Amino acid sequence: MKDRYPCLTIDTQKLIHNTKAVIEICKKNNIKVMAVTKLFQGNTRMAQMMVDSGVECIGDARIQNLIRLKDIKVEKALIRLPMLSEIDLLVEYADISLNSEIETIRAISDYCLEHDKKHKIVLMVDMGDRREGVNEEDVFSTAQQIAECKGVELVGLGVNFGCFGGVVPDKESMESFMNHVETIEEKLNLKFTHITGGSSLHLHMIWEGSLPEGITHLRIGQSINLGVEDKYGDVIDGLYGDVYKLHAQVIEKKTKPSVPKGQIGIDAFGNVPVFKERGNLKRLILGIGRQDVLLDGLTPEDREIEIMGGSSDHMILNVTPCTKEYSIGDIVSFEMNYSSLLSVFNSEYVYKRFI
Ligand SMILES: *Cc1c(COP(=O)(O)O)cnc(C)c1O
Repeated sequence: MKDRYPCLTIDTQKLIHNTKAVIEICKKNNIKVMAVTKLFQGNTRMAQMMVDSGVECIGDARIQNLIRLKDIKVEKALIRLPMLSEIDLLVEYADISLNSEIETIRAISDYCLEHDKKHKIVLMVDMGDRREGVNEEDVFSTAQQIAECKGVELVGLGVNFGCFGGVVPDKESMESFMNHVETIEEKLNLKFTHITGGSSLHLHMIWEGSLPEGITHLRIGQSINLGVEDKYGDVIDGLYGDVYKLHAQVIEKKTKPSVPKGQIGIDAFGNVPVFKERGNLKRLILGIGRQDVLLDGLTPEDREIEIMGGSSDHMILNVTPCTKEYSIGDIVSFEMNYSSLLSVFNSEYVYKRFI
């Protein structure tokens, strides 16, 4: 098949390797990996690869993605709080959901009773990041109320960090979280199966030995896909940081003055651009733009390239300092951070190629 661009390549061997490596890391603490598939919109081939690599559970923030994954035989969780408008789909396509509102949980319970279905509930606790979760003082009373809902089963507590408040979990906050777990198990006479203690942001606590015992699951997206752990942003020892690469083709090559000519109004995105006089610059235009990728998170593989900017459909590069001489039709490749990769997966204009 002819190669088409722009194109995202997905290195399947590296993805499988990363999945297995993360499972191994978590095994040390008897933790199961819930592979988070929202980055790649629940792509069935990629999810199946993760299941074949040993993942026991899949989590996604979007019910549409879980619907796409319906034929993959593994436990599935909706990891964003369910909306009242999607409860029928939730019960049909997810075994578990993360929750914080008793009103929603009651609605799920009622739906299950009415339709003779089952659903498992994880109660989210806000331990400081201030996104989802009940406040600490309400954990016990909410758990009590959930236990009274006959259509659902309370299977554990969950916590999330590093998303809204940017709070990093530590030994102290995780131990307080586990105290809630122990109190509820004891007082309500429950044995939790899903103590879902965090995300890629918690992996460093495993090798630093600071993650308390008893957590049964971590919800992992970034570390499997980008090979990084969140706290320090480094590629984890033994993992690949280059599973994904973005490739775009050169459609113009010209030397132009660094400063535009004429009166400057607003650019394509309503901003007034500012240019520094830098003389004539050797530039490339690539056939890719903001409709395809968030430019901020890109790093050219050729480190001498400078990304000058872009519009909806064009990316402008300064290649004046480059040793390599570029020509029309050449391919320029990029590494991406999480946000850029997410945008690429969401662009239907970017071809996806497994290698
Ligand atoms: C996206 C998400 C995760 C996964 O986070 P990573 O940093 O990609 O590992 C975990 N939990 C929740 C609730 C999420 O929305």
